Amino acid sequence: MIISIAGEKCTGHGRCYSVADRLLTDDDDGFVVERGTSWEVADGLHDEAAAAAKACPEGAISIRDA
Ligand code: SF4
Repeated sequence: MIISIAGEKCTGHGRCYSVADRLLTDDDDGFVVERGTSWEVADGLHDEAAAAAKACPEGAISIRDA
């Protein structure tokens, strides 16, 4: 699974890292640190990635099969 976070869409609601704290981290301003990047999600974190994508009100997070 690949997760992508569109940096220009992230407005810092913080819902993603609240539901996926093993996958995502927040910066001092409340934005997700990993915005603007894509990476392969570790096998044990697929559920967290899906939850983060569902939780983002801006539609900034997408997931797809690797
Ligand atoms: S939930 Fe969406 S808008 Fe909020 S910090 Fe995460 S990626 Fe950004």
